[in-house]
Amino acid sequence: MSLPHEKYEESELYRIRHSVSHIMAQAVMEMFPGQAKIAIGPPIAEGFYYDFDLPRSLTPEDLEAIERRMREIIQGDFRFERRALSAAEAKAMYADQPYKIELIEGLERGGTDEYGNEIADKPEISIYRHDTFTDLCRGPHVEHTGQLNPDAIKLTSIAGAYWRGDETKPMLQRIYGTAWKTSEELEQYLWQLEEARKRDHRKLGRELDLFSISDEVGAGLILWHPKGGMVRKIAEDFCRAEHERGGYDFVYSPHIGRSNLWETSGHLGWYRENMYSPLDIEGQEYFLKPMNCPFHIQIYKTRTRSYRDLPLRFAEWGTVYRYERSGVLHGLMRVRGFTQDDAHLFCRPDQMPEEIDRVLAFSLSILRAFGFEDFQCYLSTRNPHKSAGAPEQWEAPTEALRLALERAQVPYKVDEGEATFYGPKIDIKIKDAIGREWQLSTIQFDFNLPERFDMTYVGEDGEEHRPYMVHRALVGSMERFMGVLIEHYAGAFPVWLAPVQAVVIPIADRHNAYAETVAAQLREQGVRVEVDGRGDRMNAKIRDAQLRKVPYMLVVGDKEAEQGNVALRLRNGDNPGPTPLADFLTRARQEIASKAAW
Ligand SMILES: [Zn+2]
Ligand SMILES: [Zn+2]
Repeated sequence: MSLPHEKYEESELYRIRHSVSHIMAQAVMEMFPGQAKIAIGPPIAEGFYYDFDLPRSLTPEDLEAIERRMREIIQGDFRFERRALSAAEAKAMYADQPYKIELIEGLERGGTDEYGNEIADKPEISIYRHDTFTDLCRGPHVEHTGQLNPDAIKLTSIAGAYWRGDETKPMLQRIYGTAWKTSEELEQYLWQLEEARKRDHRKLGRELDLFSISDEVGAGLILWHPKGGMVRKIAEDFCRAEHERGGYDFVYSPHIGRSNLWETSGHLGWYRENMYSPLDIEGQEYFLKPMNCPFHIQIYKTRTRSYRDLPLRFAEWGTVYRYERSGVLHGLMRVRGFTQDDAHLFCRPDQMPEEIDRVLAFSLSILRAFGFEDFQCYLSTRNPHKSAGAPEQWEAPTEALRLALERAQVPYKVDEGEATFYGPKIDIKIKDAIGREWQLSTIQFDFNLPERFDMTYVGEDGEEHRPYMVHRALVGSMERFMGVLIEHYAGAFPVWLAPVQAVVIPIADRHNAYAETVAAQLREQGVRVEVDGRGDRMNAKIRDAQLRKVPYMLVVGDKEAEQGNVALRLRNGDNPGPTPLADFLTRARQEIASKAAW
């Protein structure tokens, strides 16, 4: 079931999008002859963009005109030609393009690429030319514009973007576009984009009163409202119970730790730029935790561990803080403080294969419980140029991960040499209701921290040995996972997760008493229920419950009160009608227990 994982950067789609980005820049320069300043135009996940400094703001009509011109250029069948050149020659060529000059200077110095991104080496300076347009670029591109499909391109939006993402620098206009091989793929993508807009968790979060982000609290910090808090609590309660059944121990750790802890763990060395400035407490530096691992290791180290104590599985819903630029923050998906469903496994070498099997199966069962069925796993293997420990040390764990994937019968791809320096790992991506992929679970070996903290256990031979350590998070960040759930279900959570599962709707005031008895009986059975006793008309109350995406609406009037019934309506429009209360309860309990989604 294993396939090598083609890197996006090496794919045909990447070359297509990169090429279309050049063509778009040509069309924009022609629209503003002698005035357009061009910045950068890279391919991105599902398309490309290009940043421009222009004499006026672009309009949607401009985009149409640019798109028309792009199709003409494509049909001109121009070759993309690469040429290497000196920094001096490049600067002369872009004398009237200040942003390109800055990028060329970066290339000349080394350490940044032609997009201004940091890189380790100093690349050769090169340009790509087609028709009248030449860009500072290392490629790759398609061979000629005729290889592009003029019916599979679309400019999608205009946005503001600071030069080099720096709010003290000029604000540029960014045009986003997308390009595919076929018009069907483009259609599918545009449908997905539109559907994603409707399901946007920020919009639904507001409408369903789930969460908010307050300027006064600060960017990237989430406030959970009662309804969203309820969904999260139910999700967490479920996961905790599963962890308990799965043999995990629960630990708790503080939000800050002394600088020496983060020195030992190495975070201050290799993770510093993701951490916030230190706090001074009585002359000692403390840092907000970006990860929970060092604390769990400290718990491990409070006593001598024997081979009989292992495996140990320490789980914590640990809230961590990581620096993100304000420009990249996005609702629940990209935040500055979030809670991981984190755990660390410590085991002996002979236990390791079974531990990996268990944790992978556990991970998949949790994701399935939340309604995800479509998985794609990635196995990242050792990078020979940067890796902790000896190559032999990587063999058994990598093999254990691979065998676990085979046994779990999930499709997986191998990211050869893509592991972080401290160990091989499995990432699990799920596909949501509209076909988007989200990476949720990670199962990550660590050969580094046990060394750094000198972790040991006493073996059967009475000698000290190093345990295996595995980091794992199943849904990852609770915040992001909630965002994924909101968008996957478009806010219509399965009954077991719905913050309000049933609304009882009395037809007139005189039915309020019966409505309250119905609600009391449901509550007794653990159903989350509200009575809508407002004086509004019944239809208005039904519409309101539907907007709030409450799964069950129970309308009660004279007949229902007489016969001990409820008139059942479902959120999806189904209308089963008069139902004995006991029957409804059986149905509700069954749908909650089976985690049914409809
Ligand atoms: Zn290029
Ligand atoms: Zn960890």
